[in-house]
Amino acid sequence: MEKQQLFINGKWEEGVQYEELRSPYNQEVISMIPLATKEQVENAIASAQQTTKTMRNLTAFERAEILEKVSDLFTERLEECALILASENAKPLKAARGEIVRTAETYKFAAEEAKRLHGETVPLDAAKSGKGRFGYTKREPLGVIAAITPFNFPFNLVAHKLGPAFAAGNTVVLKPASQTPLSAIMTAKLFEEAGLPKGALNVVTGKGSVVGDLLVQDDRVKMITFTGSVPVGMRIKEKAGLKRVTLELGSNAAVIIDSTDDLETAAARCAEGAFNFAGQVCISVQRIYVNENVFEEFVGKLKYYTRQLVLGDPKSETTDVSSLINPNETDRIDKWVQEAKADGAKVVYGGKQDGTVFQPTILVNTNEKLSVSCNEAFGPVVSVNSYKTWDEAISLVNDSEYGLQAGVYTTNIQRAFEAADRLEVGGVIINDIPTFRVDNMPYGGVKNSGVGKEGIKYSTEEMTELKFVSFKL
Ligand code: NAP
Repeated sequence: MEKQQLFINGKWEEGVQYEELRSPYNQEVISMIPLATKEQVENAIASAQQTTKTMRNLTAFERAEILEKVSDLFTERLEECALILASENAKPLKAARGEIVRTAETYKFAAEEAKRLHGETVPLDAAKSGKGRFGYTKREPLGVIAAITPFNFPFNLVAHKLGPAFAAGNTVVLKPASQTPLSAIMTAKLFEEAGLPKGALNVVTGKGSVVGDLLVQDDRVKMITFTGSVPVGMRIKEKAGLKRVTLELGSNAAVIIDSTDDLETAAARCAEGAFNFAGQVCISVQRIYVNENVFEEFVGKLKYYTRQLVLGDPKSETTDVSSLINPNETDRIDKWVQEAKADGAKVVYGGKQDGTVFQPTILVNTNEKLSVSCNEAFGPVVSVNSYKTWDEAISLVNDSEYGLQAGVYTTNIQRAFEAADRLEVGGVIINDIPTFRVDNMPYGGVKNSGVGKEGIKYSTEEMTELKFVSFKL
């Protein structure tokens, strides 16, 4: 079995201890992953620290060139990278290829952003005492950034951290999710090939509670950029001290189907948004609120499109839905569905395990207090309920501790603008599902869904220090 290595100071290094990495689909061992020791994590931070000057001195042209090359390499190695995803996180090949196309685009956006990072002049003479003075701002790199990433989009969400960090001239220590180290190791190889200075990227694999914790508490680290669950995010924020922290956390995203000329497409999109990657997407459609006038018709169409989904091996060309990331998650979803049934909810589609795959499941009449409604499901379960009034629909969506994105189907322009104002989320998606993201848009939640924005322009700014300069003329 192939043993992977850590990437520290531009060198590939053996681990002291190793852990088996198993396929979520068939539990076969696919690789051996080093568990970085405290000393190795310290060395990774030290190497990132030593390289800050080199990265700072690269020109915008040079930073953009490296990122551009990485983007091209992802396009060239698309199939190889898609297979890594199918192996390590059971992402069906069709979706896996989509992630790699997006990853290449994310690095391309970062390359472009490297050339756009600028300050502004400040009219100091607008102040009574500012006569004869001239001021301007400039954006400087922060230094060492720790990136801690989740399992569900291990190439593209790593790109959302490395792309802006390097665009702004920082160095990085990356700690990928334990279930998805192979994608991070592949990413490091592509950066190496693209000519990133040695030490600018370090990859340390191992347990979050050990490796992640060391990164979070080290004073040499100036920023933590984290994507993952709420409990881990909160723990990181508590321990980070004065470091800058960006948290991209979970949600129970909702969509309102108020009125549409095309209920067919709305239902097809909801099936896609609820069950793509078995619902393991932070903006997966988890709650659907449908105007009572079209409720029955909508549920019929949603069932139709859900029935078309092919379940099975992530490496099969036809698979749409494969297994969850581990058997505990399948058990949890099963328990939540049973709890909903016992409470009076009706399973109109799915509801059971099919081999290692949990069937895409549609529930109706779910109480708002059930786990499937108020907690993040992160699995292939969607709740559909009807509403009578527009105000009721808005409050149902807002009745959540999360607030990442929400979708609204309406043909009423007044309601569309009202939804944009009243929904308590980071992004309102009109006439589509909340599961919409392209990689240059601002992205990030309110409430328990997080702090700070991603989307290359926005995260690049968050990864810089705004410095002010004043000249007395
Ligand atoms: P997770 O369990 O929170 O893990 C995320 C990362 O944190 C992993 O690398 C994990 O390492 C590490 N970690 C665990 N404990 C830690 C600690 N004490 N200190 C520092 N790091 C620690 O999340 P996940 O299961 O991988 O991903 C699913 C979650 O991510 C969902 O809640 C989803 O909504 C969220 N997500 C949010 C977005 C967004 O943009 N808002 C996007 C994608 C996913 P180990 O794997 O070794 O435990």
